[in-house]
Amino acid sequence: MLELPIPTPVSETEWVTRHLGHLVCDAGTTARPARRGGQRAADEALAALDVAGYAQRRSMVDPPSSRTATVLSPYIRHGMITLAEAIAAVGGAPVADRRRFVDELWWQEYARHLYARVGTRSRRPLRREPAIGAPTWPEPVDEDMVCMSRVRDELEQTGWLVNQTRMWLASHWTVRAGHDWRNGEEWMFRHLLDGSRAANRYGWQWSVGAMTSKPYGFSRWQVERRAAAWCASCPRASACPIENWPAAQSGRALEDALLRSGADLVGPEMPVVTGTPEEVWLTAESMGAGDPALVAWPTKPAVFVFDEPLLEQLRLSTKRLTFIAQTLAELAEHRPLRLLLGDPATDLHGVKLAATFAPVPGFQRRAAHLDIVALHPYPWLARPDGGDVSSHSAWIRRLPRRAIVQGA
Ligand SMILES: Cc1cc2nc3c(=O)[nH]c(=O)nc-3n(C[C@H](O)[C@H](O)[C@H](O)COP(=O)(O)OP(=O)(O)OC[C@H]3O[C@@H](n4cnc5c(N)ncnc54)[C@H](O)[C@@H]3O)c2cc1C
Repeated sequence: MLELPIPTPVSETEWVTRHLGHLVCDAGTTARPARRGGQRAADEALAALDVAGYAQRRSMVDPPSSRTATVLSPYIRHGMITLAEAIAAVGGAPVADRRRFVDELWWQEYARHLYARVGTRSRRPLRREPAIGAPTWPEPVDEDMVCMSRVRDELEQTGWLVNQTRMWLASHWTVRAGHDWRNGEEWMFRHLLDGSRAANRYGWQWSVGAMTSKPYGFSRWQVERRAAAWCASCPRASACPIENWPAAQSGRALEDALLRSGADLVGPEMPVVTGTPEEVWLTAESMGAGDPALVAWPTKPAVFVFDEPLLEQLRLSTKRLTFIAQTLAELAEHRPLRLLLGDPATDLHGVKLAATFAPVPGFQRRAAHLDIVALHPYPWLARPDGGDVSSHSAWIRRLPRRAIVQGA
């Protein structure tokens, strides 16, 4: 275990390079991240939220001024904005825009529920074999196709993409170009500031036809509609290789009983307190100032462990780790914070901890080795009930209408 100094606000990227540079996938490259980390930036983004036009233009790609996607996702992913807070923030918005935005937040909740059920099983296709294009293209992202190279560059430079281009990339990667979706998912995960296994694996599985009977088809038609100038400037415009829909069909149906019913990682409904904690353990799932464990134990110092064995394997991008470093640097302005580089299961062994439950297998695995004397509930919009999560429609049908509109 190595104790790290607190990042200074002006040089978090330098801090990441110095202390975590041996763990990133992109050492030495510069980025221009779509969002800055930290609760202040999250609060500002929420205060400035304006979803007028969202329903009609949420899927616009280019020019950037035509987009209405909110770019709240990095803050939502790390618990700096809860889904309930995002719903509350659009109370006065035009009805159609509000409805569409709230619907999307429930997709996030659905992805979390699905992941709370299947966990690491989501590495494999959940309902069908994916639709795989043939013959395999030499590269999953063709440099000469503006619609692919621009999306790749935006992902790698900013760490964020609109939903539409995530679908283009995922579909093209596998359904047309015939490459393994798991490599695409890993690559996107390394770069997305909002990268979560729950939403990213679901997004990929959905796009490549592993969650539905029909893969998402990507062709020139979508680019003409959402980013017409890209086609106009594309060297391959007169011989566009994606003029037609991809031919690949989804594969055979798989056994999916686990999705119909099963045990979920749901966590406690009320705080479970068996002692007085020495420190509040923060995880990447919940790093906001409103983290339930932080709020419940306002005088206790906090601790965050950069999990070295995990990071070695994940090889996240510098901008992702910088976003986290910025968030931690800001938390350290308000209370003592210990930053460690090591393995949480061993480095926090024997310390009495408070923590917020996280519905991900990594939390469960580590928590089993730790002395968590105060476990706080995860801020679900609706608590998982062990029922059908095989599709968003089957799942959302079970929720009361009032909860869907207002947040539970
Ligand atoms: C292949 C693929 C990979 C994806 N990977 C991720 C990921 O790693 N992390 C992630 O948070 N989302 C992921 N998504 C979902 C979605 O693309 C992003 O949440 C959204 O683009 C984030 O931008 P935004 O905040 O501007 O969204 P907005 O359109 O402004 O929506 C507001 C919020 O609603 C939620 N949301 C919107 N669309 C979806 C969706 N389709 N599924 C789940 N939640 C949604 C997000 O929390 C988002 O911040 C992925 C989608 C696909 C197709």
